[in-house]
Amino acid sequence: MGLRTPQQYIDSLKDGRTVYYRGERVPDVTTHPVIKKAVRHACLDFEMAENPEYRDLAVVTGEDGQPYSRYYKIPASTDDLLQRSRLIETATALGKTLVVLVKEIGTDALFALHRVARQVDQKYETDYHRRVEAFYRHCRDNDLAVSVAQTDVKGDRGLGPRDQPHPDYYTRIVERRPDGIVVRGAKIHTSCTTNVNELIVLPTRAMAEADADYAVSFAIPVDTPGLKLIASPYGGSPKNEFDAPLSAERKMMETITIFDDVFVPWERVFLAGEYDFAGPLALGFVEYHRFTAVSYKLPLVDALVGSALLMADLNGIARAAHVRDKLIRLISYAETLRALTEMAALRGRGDDPGIFAPDPLTTNMAKYHFAHGYHEALQHVQDIAGGMLVTGPGAEDFANPETGDLLRKYLGGRAGVDGEVRTRAMNMVSDLTTGDFGGYHAVLAIHAEGSLEAEKLMISRAYDGRRALEYAKKLAGIA
Ligand SMILES: Cc1cc2nc3c(=O)[nH]c(=O)nc-3n(C[C@H](O)[C@H](O)[C@H](O)COP(=O)(O)OP(=O)(O)OC[C@H]3O[C@@H](n4cnc5c(N)ncnc54)[C@H](O)[C@@H]3O)c2cc1C
Repeated sequence: MGLRTPQQYIDSLKDGRTVYYRGERVPDVTTHPVIKKAVRHACLDFEMAENPEYRDLAVVTGEDGQPYSRYYKIPASTDDLLQRSRLIETATALGKTLVVLVKEIGTDALFALHRVARQVDQKYETDYHRRVEAFYRHCRDNDLAVSVAQTDVKGDRGLGPRDQPHPDYYTRIVERRPDGIVVRGAKIHTSCTTNVNELIVLPTRAMAEADADYAVSFAIPVDTPGLKLIASPYGGSPKNEFDAPLSAERKMMETITIFDDVFVPWERVFLAGEYDFAGPLALGFVEYHRFTAVSYKLPLVDALVGSALLMADLNGIARAAHVRDKLIRLISYAETLRALTEMAALRGRGDDPGIFAPDPLTTNMAKYHFAHGYHEALQHVQDIAGGMLVTGPGAEDFANPETGDLLRKYLGGRAGVDGEVRTRAMNMVSDLTTGDFGGYHAVLAIHAEGSLEAEKLMISRAYDGRRALEYAKKLAGIA
């Protein structure tokens, strides 16, 4: 089986997994009033594979002639990265600016594991690359949805794993058995875990020798005993399509992901104590995952530009000098991101046999450009739209004959734009830039796939300053 139907995906989630929502155990995530929204959103991925319009983008053919999801295609060239980026962008656009992520993040981790496992095997004569390959085939051939738990709860951010107030702020191996390892700890912000099949665990950071038990990577099915998922209720309140046209039916779930002495068989262990590879694995994942990130941000920045154009028109201010200035800034912001994303693929490299990677410098510049400029972009859109972003009437007020026509009359904009049209546009922009969905996007912009400082660190590491330095010396006549 290379591809699953949306229904097969939904049915696969009914496995008795341990999920809590607002203090209560969830018996079935596919029928839970909030989590089922995330399940439906994730179905997009499986629907695209069935839709003739997206089939070529979403599906590739393997060497055995069997079709499988393009997300699982190990990139071998710039073109593979560009196609992957387009798939992620298209899926997110169909998801009304919300990334689908149930295969994107898992394959980012699998690509990094392929690269790093080979290096670990070379140094320590371990068997990790074969295990990664077997797990990759299992996921690809069964068209599985996969989350990645990298971010540990971390406790005191200024301290390493072994110096924390208690030993479990970073996930660690607490027992090694002949048949596998036992793992304890908690990861946080883990996206989509409630509604995927498998969970890949990666180290958060570089480790020292004394942290060896924290240098651990593995994969487990989500119904594994001892794995407890506490789902965040953020953004879980009921919404209607009029007030929240983007987020009424779109949702991603995050969990606090607790490993309460979870047993992992050796076949699913990809790093166990080789501390000097914790950093390369953490960063290897980030190299792919930030490229995914900048790809899925493209519909969001398009939506910001489009919102500014739309509201400027409806409000009758499209020709005002300050509005044109803000539009130019927004266009530059969005198109710089698009150009850098493409450039990250064009500058990609294939240092490892059979696997291509986006250029880390350009990818991090793209992500930093996006994250750093996001709140300023929001400011321009909100400025052009006006205060009705947070003060408008509800759908019921337009439906009520006593108030509907009054609102259509008084809330209109330029000639030909009545109050209902303008309110609908305003509600879309409000959903995008304010409230829980706008707030989710704003925090996602700053923190997801690593904080601003993490991107700056990667830019400074990846930039080779020799050419610029030599040129400056030459200009100074001191070469
Ligand atoms: C919506 C969302 C979805 C996410 N999805 C996933 C996911 O699916 N899987 C996953 O693994 N992670 C996920 N993340 C986690 C994301 O990668 C982290 O939020 C990010 O790495 C920041 O970590 P943090 O939230 O613990 O913040 P912190 O690391 O606590 O950052 C807070 C501040 O502390 C600073 N800081 C941290 N450590 C130090 C230090 N040692 N010295 C100086 N300053 C420091 C940071 O630079 C930042 O300014 C997600 C996050 C969000 C918001």
